[in-house]
Amino acid sequence: MNHEPDIVKELKKLEKLGRLKNFSKYTYGKPKEEKVINVKTKKLVNIIKEKIKQGKNCKIEDTSKTKFEKYGKEKTIKKDIFKSEKKFREIFDSTSDFQLYLEKGIILDINNAAMKISGITKKEVIGQDISIFKKIFSEKDLKKHITAINDANDGLDVNDYETELKNKNGNNYVFVFSTDCIKDHEEIKGILFRGKDITQHQREMQELVKLEEKYRVLAETSADGVITIDPIGRLTYVNPAFEKMLKTSKSQILATLFRDYLSEESVYFFQQIFIDIRKKNEKKENVELELARSSGDTIPIEVNIAPYRKEDQFTGMVCTIRDITERRRVEEELKKSEKLKTEFMNIAAHELKSPVTPIKGYLDLILQDEKTSKKVKDWAKVSLRNSERLLRLVDDILDVSRLDSDTMRFEMEKLPIVEILDEIVEDMKPTIESKGLKFITNIPISLPSIFGDKHRLAQVFKNLMVNAIKFTDYGSISIKAIKNKDHILISITDTGIGISKDEIKKIFNKFYQSYTSYDRKNEGTGLGLFICNEILEKHKGKIWAESELGKGSTFYIKLPYLNENTTKDEK
Ligand code: ADP
Repeated sequence: MNHEPDIVKELKKLEKLGRLKNFSKYTYGKPKEEKVINVKTKKLVNIIKEKIKQGKNCKIEDTSKTKFEKYGKEKTIKKDIFKSEKKFREIFDSTSDFQLYLEKGIILDINNAAMKISGITKKEVIGQDISIFKKIFSEKDLKKHITAINDANDGLDVNDYETELKNKNGNNYVFVFSTDCIKDHEEIKGILFRGKDITQHQREMQELVKLEEKYRVLAETSADGVITIDPIGRLTYVNPAFEKMLKTSKSQILATLFRDYLSEESVYFFQQIFIDIRKKNEKKENVELELARSSGDTIPIEVNIAPYRKEDQFTGMVCTIRDITERRRVEEELKKSEKLKTEFMNIAAHELKSPVTPIKGYLDLILQDEKTSKKVKDWAKVSLRNSERLLRLVDDILDVSRLDSDTMRFEMEKLPIVEILDEIVEDMKPTIESKGLKFITNIPISLPSIFGDKHRLAQVFKNLMVNAIKFTDYGSISIKAIKNKDHILISITDTGIGISKDEIKKIFNKFYQSYTSYDRKNEGTGLGLFICNEILEKHKGKIWAESELGKGSTFYIKLPYLNENTTKDEK
């Protein structure tokens, strides 16, 4: 090869640079008169012709000229290029991307988008090379395009290189360009040069970076722990608050498994939640877990977990972690003081009950004694009424303390509900009628039995009836029962003072007495409905009220009934 003349070496160099085509087919030593070498510019053609004259015979063809003539002027031939590629043609014209079709570095076609962006017409561009666009590309970017087109000419596709572009109105854009070789039987026929506007995308990315930065600052300064976990459960981000919680530095924590920092009891629970979140793609709130420090101690935490996805793929979870040691301590103390209160109420109630019982007994004796004067009897009646009231209060307090400490005993058995309701009707009838109220009852004998404590249920109905009588001066009181699909519905209705919408939500609270009845000589404790609600809960039942101020109230009770085949154990 060292006997190659300079001209051949130079031509080979030019071929490498993409400015000369088909030269490799030319073999030194066996020159062919008709060998055609395609060269891009006229100037180059002349130089080569000059050199060739000195050595070998070869035909030089100026491609820029011929192509210009061929496609620039004769439209019919130009059409042929894409005739067989109609689809390509359509895409070429309709896309919003900047596109050129080149052959041997010469532009043979330009699409609508490229003309719109550059402001250069088809006529101006055909037959030129890429430097025709020097107005819209910087010098540096133009060089990038030339290199890319040259590479493509050598069969090397170039993908997505970023450049700036100044459109015809002088506005700046960011584009990514690519070149694709269009081949015909392995021979490079032409190049598709295309650019995509990524300005908006880039702006969005910058916004995203800013946004991420904002959230990062938020996380970094948060008093709660903030962590992110990858799909396998490894920690990908931890904030300073979490480091502090664990008393371990970020460098030691990152890329390790989150579950490694949970107590043994919490690991299984967390794994279940992790799988669940992944499957359902739903966030989970207020999950209570235990964090285990390397020193061996544990701290209670409350975790809120949210999954995050990218293009529908589960990519991990974000968790906020709150140290709830202090809250737990307060809760414990509250529980303790609640227990103390219940114990105190229990003792106080018993202590009160013991002296009141004999007082009530002696007052009964005074009232029954024929020798007692009317004046003394009247005094004894007032004392008896008040000692009965005191006993009711003591009984209510005792019931509440039993319910609070879960020590109220329920003698559960199969009960014919009709019997309980009939007894109530019998007991209440005289009081209702003596107050001049109408008493309406509708209790079908066919009602099924229920499973419950007779005395406790009677206490509930009595309480409701006593309230109805207490708050009703005119009209009627009614008690009805019906059998529904799977329960018995009992309603007690009065035409009394009614309860406001606001208060109806509170009447089942402990010690609540409504405003409406405040100025009445109310003899209640505000505990009755609370006790009713608790007793019904123990019977898997429900109680609620509907009322209209000034018109009256209805209290509803729902109780499940026993099916013929239901056994006691099943209930
Ligand atoms: P109390 O012993 O005060 O009656 P309850 O818990 O039984 O306590 O009732 C709480 C409050 O609900 C009563 O003070 C009263 O304001 C209201 N209330 C209960 N039943 C009726 C009713 N039938 N009509 C009007 N208000 C009622």
